[in-house]
Amino acid sequence: MKNNISRLQIWWKSFCDTLFPRQCPVCGRRLALTESHVCATCLYRLPIVPCSAPTDNAITKTFERFMPIEKATAMFYYHHESPYRQILFSLKYEGNPQIGREFGRMWSRRLLSQHFFDDIDLLIPLPLANKRKRKRGYNQSEWIAKGITDVTGIPVETGIVRRTVSNPTQTRLSKTERHVNVEGIFQVSHAERLKGKHILLIDDVMTTGATLISCGRTLLAQTEDTRISVFVLAKTMQR
Ligand SMILES: [Zn+2]
Repeated sequence: MKNNISRLQIWWKSFCDTLFPRQCPVCGRRLALTESHVCATCLYRLPIVPCSAPTDNAITKTFERFMPIEKATAMFYYHHESPYRQILFSLKYEGNPQIGREFGRMWSRRLLSQHFFDDIDLLIPLPLANKRKRKRGYNQSEWIAKGITDVTGIPVETGIVRRTVSNPTQTRLSKTERHVNVEGIFQVSHAERLKGKHILLIDDVMTTGATLISCGRTLLAQTEDTRISVFVLAKTMQR
């Protein structure tokens, strides 16, 4: 019976693939039946951020200048002309939140071996402002967090931190202006539920880290005995 079901699933998948061929967002090649979201070649060539010790790496050091942080990690680098930017485009603008979940799972499996999650209590995806979430239909960071939960079992909390303002575009701002632009855009309710917790903040992209820092600082200021760590999918690379 089990065999029949899996045969049926394979048949159904290949039927759907014939009707609606799936493409790799990075190279545009048609995906094989066994590939999900991104082809094996593009995954193999993914510009992974070198994984040194989670508490002592360049990403963690970026945050340390602005707030107390336990550890931070990013999965891959991208830049303006990089084809890998398409992964983020697909996640945010093409209605494909599942790609975020899949990448969240992949990076979490890698981090498990480094014991990255051992002392993390809670995942908090950076919230979107209500208007933007309504327009997009979902929060991409929540889907990355779902992927982390799939692998680690750590619960996701989406009801405590609220974003009051979207920060429309940061691209033309200097580093300092970016930090000022996002100051005070987060609000915390039921702060007592976070008492003593080690929180992993989740976001899709990190440029200067200004938005994550703003959220982390708000949490640290309004909660008691909390610790903050950061997980981002992609880090921009200056060319
Ligand atoms: Zn590809």
